Amino acid sequence: MHQKFSIMMAIWTVLFCTASMAVTTNSAARADSAILLKLVSGKAVQGGLLVFQTKAGTKIILDGLELPVSADGLFVLGFHRDDVTPQELLAMDASGKTAKLTLTPEVRDWEIQRIDNLPTNMVTPPEAVITRIKKDIKNVKAARAVISDFDDVLKNGFVWPVWGRISGIYGAQRILNGKPRQPHYGIDIAAPSGVAVRAAGAGRVTMAMDLYFTGGTVIIDHGFGLNSTYSHLKDMYVRPGDRVTRGGVIGSVGSTGRSTGPHLDWRINWRHKRLDPLLIAGPLHPALPASRPK
Ligand SMILES: [Zn+2]
Repeated sequence: MHQKFSIMMAIWTVLFCTASMAVTTNSAARADSAILLKLVSGKAVQGGLLVFQTKAGTKIILDGLELPVSADGLFVLGFHRDDVTPQELLAMDASGKTAKLTLTPEVRDWEIQRIDNLPTNMVTPPEAVITRIKKDIKNVKAARAVISDFDDVLKNGFVWPVWGRISGIYGAQRILNGKPRQPHYGIDIAAPSGVAVRAAGAGRVTMAMDLYFTGGTVIIDHGFGLNSTYSHLKDMYVRPGDRVTRGGVIGSVGSTGRSTGPHLDWRINWRHKRLDPLLIAGPLHPALPASRPK
């Protein structure tokens, strides 16, 4: 994994607030449930994303939170890395007919990385940059708060933004100089500097900015609470407000921010939950050649 993360880790701790929500495994599906709550893809597992089909016009409630449903009756939900509690999914159609599912997330084992003897300023950010970091955090939060009704990703899923060696995985816990830091919520894909980075799904850009820790950072809103983040970019070819297509080039691989070498840090969130891109986009395959953008 990247070692730049020494600092990054420290930041992630601040940058992204952890969510603790309960979640999923599905239980019995009765005939009614099959009609009102049909699992299209994914499973109840920590870091997982589930896409369901219901009848258009059905009200969906997850542990008291009403979830938006697309015009075609699709909706999504996801599980955070540390979710363990069962969640109740309730569907109620226009006639008042209901269906229920209990989702209990499958628990995973996480890699633990211990890094000792790091200089103190690598583990704890220097005072001088705190203001900048706080501002970055605020901007990232705002960019991820957008919940629109794009439904392309619900229908077509995600693709890999770049093809390369995976150098850092989701969920790994870093312990720096004996201090536990927030787990790594992205996957790192090592690739040569300048290689095209593509939008993992269709949507709209909500951030394209240079940040202290993550360097050139693009965030794309995919609708229904889903967004993806691309960090350490060398070039950014998009601006906030731009519409992007799945596989469309948005930037190039770099080593900007706190990074020790060219790679893409790719993340997917559903609301405040961090999802595992590896579970969502499937095994890495050479569908997207590592080519330079024109
Ligand atoms: Zn990373």
